[in-house]
Amino acid sequence: MAATDDIREKIEDLRERVRYHGRRYYIEDAPEISDAEYDGLYKELETLEAENPELVTPDSPTRRVGGEPLEGFEEIQHAIPMLSLSNARKTGDLREWDARVRRLLGPEEEERLRYVTELKIDGLAISLRYEGGRFVRGATRGNGTVGEDVTHNLRTVRSIPEKLDGEPPEVLEPRGEVYIGLEEFEKLNQRQEAEGKPTYANPRNLAAGSIRQLDPRMTAARPLTVFLYGVGEGYGDYESHSASLAALKNYGLRVNPYEVHESIDSVVEACERWAEKRTNVGYQIDGVVVKVDSREQQEALGSVQKAPRWAIAYKFEPLAGRTRLQDIFVHVGRTGALTPQAALEPVNIGGVTISRATLHNEDYIKEKDILVGDRVVVERAGDVIPQVVRAVTEERTGDEYAFQMPTECPVCGEPVSRPEGEAVTRCVNTRCPAQALEHIIHWASKSAMDIDGFGEKISTRFFELGMIKDVADIYGLKAEQIEPLEGFGEKSAENLIRSIERSKEQPFPRVLYALGVRHVGAVTAELIAERFSGEDLLSGVGAEKLTEIDGIGGVVARAVAEYFDLEDNQALVKRLMEIGLNFERVSADPVEGPLAGKRVVVTGTLSRSRSYFVERIEAAGGTFTSSVSSNTDYVLAGEGAGSKLNRAREAGVTVLDEAGFEELLS
Ligand code: NAD
Repeated sequence: MAATDDIREKIEDLRERVRYHGRRYYIEDAPEISDAEYDGLYKELETLEAENPELVTPDSPTRRVGGEPLEGFEEIQHAIPMLSLSNARKTGDLREWDARVRRLLGPEEEERLRYVTELKIDGLAISLRYEGGRFVRGATRGNGTVGEDVTHNLRTVRSIPEKLDGEPPEVLEPRGEVYIGLEEFEKLNQRQEAEGKPTYANPRNLAAGSIRQLDPRMTAARPLTVFLYGVGEGYGDYESHSASLAALKNYGLRVNPYEVHESIDSVVEACERWAEKRTNVGYQIDGVVVKVDSREQQEALGSVQKAPRWAIAYKFEPLAGRTRLQDIFVHVGRTGALTPQAALEPVNIGGVTISRATLHNEDYIKEKDILVGDRVVVERAGDVIPQVVRAVTEERTGDEYAFQMPTECPVCGEPVSRPEGEAVTRCVNTRCPAQALEHIIHWASKSAMDIDGFGEKISTRFFELGMIKDVADIYGLKAEQIEPLEGFGEKSAENLIRSIERSKEQPFPRVLYALGVRHVGAVTAELIAERFSGEDLLSGVGAEKLTEIDGIGGVVARAVAEYFDLEDNQALVKRLMEIGLNFERVSADPVEGPLAGKRVVVTGTLSRSRSYFVERIEAAGGTFTSSVSSNTDYVLAGEGAGSKLNRAREAGVTVLDEAGFEELLS
């Protein structure tokens, strides 16, 4: 029977939601719903697709692993894909899976069947590559076949050795999970709090975010560690999964503790045991992974879609409890986001007393029909920040009432805005005290005004001492004020003042980017600054005119117009103009030079930072682009260049090494 339009619509709607939450989780490392809820949506989609196979499309999230690789990273092709796992929610699912495995293997193989159980760590999946025993490359799982090259970041993780012990195969790809232990996570958050910085939501997102960012120094500052639980290339050297784990251990790698079982009863017992002890492990786990041990049997079983048939993840029930939602208050974050928070009657969940939980945003509260005064279900789904997942509507007394999102910022009193199509309400006043410090840090940062010596620590300190309240105040600082502070002397105070003065020479695009207008990154700022001056923007260019710029869409245009509409922002910009910062339109005239009109891609590891080469290319009149196409003129390739280099060769693009690049520029 053909599917009705209703079902078609329902499937599309579910796909849309699963994709959205997948993006928040895999790409942005900032999920909005609990894993259990995500799994619920996913399961519903899977079931509907199974019942209506004619509606299955190859781009459905049920057919794809994880998320697409992030821009800015080199891509790495996984010769052996990094798959996901199918899930068991109940021990009955495990027994069904066991029966299927036995059926597929046949009676002869059944005798040799053994299982391995391991804890399912909630972190970020990575693949390491050792050649001749040396660590040469590390990648994220990405979409399963193409991941991000995060070698530099992984080199800062102390539990990943540069060189292996013993005699590993010539090429070995140990695979595992990068994570942050709970104690380290708590300590890090305590430090953040003591320094007045925002705390992190949960260890999984922090670990993932730490690996998937472009500055290895940031990664090095995070207490990351790794557990290996499998092998990609090189697996053929071992006769079983447990043998490969034992070997990894002997090479000096950290291996997730594992147990070998002769029967499914013993597997079930292990899963139940770990479910009991889940909070005592010291790191975040969300289940137990069960794997067929023999490699031959694994190969015989093979894979379906995006998961192997020879493994299954037994997922724990989320830790949950019921309590009263006493009130909803709104927290204004450093980026101006207004987040509704639940004030709860304290309740013990999994050994922790919970009195606060997140409610995410306005729509979430409406969709879930949660009222102030309701009895609610609160989950700690492995996440450290608990969340309200539903209201127990059957127990309403009639005294409950609906929450209203304030129309003014509770901190500064300015009107808040919620752009169409976005879930988050924001305070867009950059002088709002809740956001001021964040803005100062951004302003002084390397990619913005690049004030040498004016990092996060100094910004926080000066802000807390009341020496600066906004970015314009930075330019009023005097050496005499700074010198007496602990850690400073005459010379360092003068140096800092000199860096501040120097930043006045930054061109307008940098200043515009440094203003921190929502959605305006460095490239967007450049596009706007080529067309309008600071004066133009102040006089009210309007969103429509901004969208005429090639590369500027409606969302960005509205954010810019809104920013310059606010009186406080106008006052700040005027002060910055008086101080002498550059608000002059930049000319988009092409720079003359050996690369004039040429498009250049940079890939692989070079002797200096990527931004150094980008600046050189632009100074020589060229344009830096991130992907190779038939329009590319040159590819500057360093060591370990991968897919981009291959594409360049296929497209017949001229490939340069550093020496060739220098020669061209001279
Ligand atoms: P998965 O987490 O269910 O299982 C596969 C992954 O488990 C592997 O890639 C590996 O990284 C990991 N793993 C940990 N320990 C392992 C071990 N010992 N052996 C093998 N693998 C091990 O699948 P997934 O595709 O990574 O993603 C789904 C997960 O992400 C679910 O838990 C889901 O709830 C969560 N998620 C949540 C949201 C959200 O909005 N909250 C969105 C998307 C995904």
